[in-house]
Amino acid sequence: MRFKDFERIVFFTGAGMSAESGVPTYRGAGGIWREYDYRAYACQDAFNHDPEHVWEFHNYRRGIVGACAPNRGHEIIAELEATHHVTVVTQNIDGLHQLAGSTNVIELHGSLWRLRCDHCGNRHRGRENPLEELHCTACHSYWRPDIVWFGDTLNFENIQDAQHALQECDLMISIGTSGVVYPAAALPMVAKRSGARMVEVNPELTDMSVLYDVNFRTTASEALTEMSGA
Ligand code: NAD
Ligand code: ZN
Repeated sequence: MRFKDFERIVFFTGAGMSAESGVPTYRGAGGIWREYDYRAYACQDAFNHDPEHVWEFHNYRRGIVGACAPNRGHEIIAELEATHHVTVVTQNIDGLHQLAGSTNVIELHGSLWRLRCDHCGNRHRGRENPLEELHCTACHSYWRPDIVWFGDTLNFENIQDAQHALQECDLMISIGTSGVVYPAAALPMVAKRSGARMVEVNPELTDMSVLYDVNFRTTASEALTEMSGA
């Protein structure tokens, strides 16, 4: 199983992709939802009720993630753009794929580094850390993290772009996702139906493991290093 035998690759990544960078995963050992009650921090109701409380949590996450650098796995994916058509479809909100140099990234769940104002439609992108000015520069309503929270719907165009890339690819590699968050978890099926070679990278067995032709039971950086070998 080597990259050189394929042309169009889609990487479908989850929290485990960034684990070697030191970003905590949601589930599993050290998972962030074990520490925090997400209902109090990551949903629209919580934000409507107490935006500053929600921002406290997101600033805490900005602090952790902002101190993390892309790992060798992110770098290998970015470098592949020199020789392959590469699309990254990620559930991560940490921006580490882009920081490593990937240019074709679909962020299904938004980004910790993007803000939007639901009052006037203003948007902002930046890695201020922590975010101190919590108010929209145009209308002074609270900025909202441009993240898909629990109960939010996914951006339709993102889903369409992801589906298109998955239909066209000849290799689809899932990395570090437990495959339990829908509708994202259903996307790899599109590639399978279109006849792509299916690879899973995860040190643990997942609900989705049976979907795949090849399973690397190891970390993202190790599996990617192996696949880039001669
Ligand atoms: P998850 O936490 O549910 O699952 C992480 C998976 O990664 C597990 O199956 C685990 O076995 C695997 N893993 C752990 N270390 C790994 C490594 N070194 N290499 C490869 N795999 C490894 O995460 P998920 O499936 O992405 O779904 C959770 C949701 O949490 C997503 O919606 C995502 O938006 C969000 N999230 C994002 C981040 C981030 O931006 N980095 C972090 C946590 C959660
Ligand atoms: Zn505004």
